[in-house]
Amino acid sequence: MLKISNIKLPIGHDSHALLHAIIKELKVNKEQIQQYQILKRSLDARKKDQLHFVYQVVVTCQDERKILQNKRLKNIEPYQETTPISLNIGDKPMQHRPVIVGSGPAGLMAGIILAEYGYRPIILERGKDVDRRAKDIDEFWQTGKLNPESNIQFGEGGAGTFSDGKLTTRIRDTRIDHVYDYLIKAGAPEEISYINKPHIGTDILRNVVKSLRDMVLNAGGEIRFEHKVVDIELENQKVVGVHVHASDKHETTYIETNHVILAIGHSARDTFHMLNEKNVAMDPKSLAIGVRIEHPQTMVNQSQYGEYYDHKDLGAAEYQLVRKKDESLDRTVYSFCMCPGGIVVAAASEDGGVVTNGMSYHARDLQNANSALVVNIDPEDYGFQPGKSPLLGLEYLRKWERQAYEVGGRNFFAPAQLVRDFLEGQPTTDLSQSSVIPSYKPGVTPADLRECLPEFVIDALKQAIRDFGKRMPGFDFGDAILTGIETRTSSPLRIHRKESGESINTAGLYPTGEGAGYAGGIISAAVDGLKIAESMIQSYSNQSFQ
Ligand code: FAD
Repeated sequence: MLKISNIKLPIGHDSHALLHAIIKELKVNKEQIQQYQILKRSLDARKKDQLHFVYQVVVTCQDERKILQNKRLKNIEPYQETTPISLNIGDKPMQHRPVIVGSGPAGLMAGIILAEYGYRPIILERGKDVDRRAKDIDEFWQTGKLNPESNIQFGEGGAGTFSDGKLTTRIRDTRIDHVYDYLIKAGAPEEISYINKPHIGTDILRNVVKSLRDMVLNAGGEIRFEHKVVDIELENQKVVGVHVHASDKHETTYIETNHVILAIGHSARDTFHMLNEKNVAMDPKSLAIGVRIEHPQTMVNQSQYGEYYDHKDLGAAEYQLVRKKDESLDRTVYSFCMCPGGIVVAAASEDGGVVTNGMSYHARDLQNANSALVVNIDPEDYGFQPGKSPLLGLEYLRKWERQAYEVGGRNFFAPAQLVRDFLEGQPTTDLSQSSVIPSYKPGVTPADLRECLPEFVIDALKQAIRDFGKRMPGFDFGDAILTGIETRTSSPLRIHRKESGESINTAGLYPTGEGAGYAGGIISAAVDGLKIAESMIQSYSNQSFQ
């Protein structure tokens, strides 16, 4: 098989164009091509008047060796297929079934592979299954009535289930292909394996999550919803079991286990407190805080695609902007988790705190584009020094979420301000005249964001919005809406672990995924879950507890 890179084709090319381009690249006849498959497709939008797609393909054809020897052919190399996961099972005895805490991407992936290798894992998830969870979220958005155990952060599929379903990652790991394979088997469109910036949207993702659940169950694993791990039993700092509260039955039970994969995400603040009380080694991390910014999607399309802004082959345009700190700006500001054609969502998981995030459907065809716009914060900024609690960052975020709740009107309405007013330092008193209609539900309260964000964050955001406006026309549009506040871009702490994935001071505990500070996003969390499960499989035998 041969890999051909850098095949450029114009926007709107027909279905035969790629095959013709392959034939031209390889200088062969059509009959010599046995099959081809797209490995990657990206859009080159650097020159707005010359937008084009760039393909990387794998081709099976006659005379491959001869083609490779032809020094005049560029961008062609032999192709190595990804090999399926194949692990040697370890021989240390495992007395009890492993327990996985959390059914987000990290927990589900760890669960699937452990189940496939015969370890019969038990996944404990504090939230509800995806259908019942969706009803609770809908009720919260309609009425402002939050269920602290079933919301955007907690429940089957984890934090990303009600998201844009962006499947991009900056990590490099061969497991990424395995994760894509599992997602495709679970019903995700095949294009996620080759599109440069794949996304599937919350509508598809919810069904994918159900199929992933079936994979765990069909392979012999178990998932218990509405089962929250409230305590970990340790003997000489070694895990011997977990205490689990089943909220549907109002009872707490005990499960004996010596292996706990902790895939709890970044919002399980009560669980972080419990782990800290158990002296599990952890440290605070840098975090980020800011707002969601909403623009008309057409404006973003025009700035990114130029004259092609409404071309049928181009989806809703994205952007990614960073303003690094320098002499004139003492903090880095960046856009994060941009959701084209989507909505700003109420993503709270605690009573009395407003949290925003973004979500979209597969079609990405709603009126507004939104993105987080956040400012970096280091542990020293929130008063951390050696010897102080590792939970300081978490408390800092909670303080500002509560402040936003007060400013919003104590009913989960989010404080919102026009970009025009924000830049001029004026409170917004009326949003009804704005051409951009805020999408956040249950609703927004016109406000002054200075009341619910630190002053240095406000100053950094102002400067960044002005700078981004120079780079991306319209970014500083006066009618654009800022909705506050965004606080859950990453975990506020890292739970330290060894190379094997085990906690550095608590034997049998395997901190995993975003909450433990080893991932940021759906794909990297899933990869981390796979990695930890693989490490466990390679060390321990699944025979001893059967
Ligand atoms: P999580 O997905 O957070 O899962 C943790 C799970 O553990 C939760 O289901 C929780 O209920 C459960 N849990 C916690 N404590 C306990 C306990 N004590 N007992 C039992 N269960 C417990 N990332 C992307 O890559 N692309 C996106 O488009 C994207 N959009 C997002 C949009 C939104 C609205 C949100 C909130 C996040 C988004 N993210 C996105 C981030 C992404 O969802 C996370 O990075 C990812 O889900 C982290 O995976 P995880 O498995 O580590 O943790």
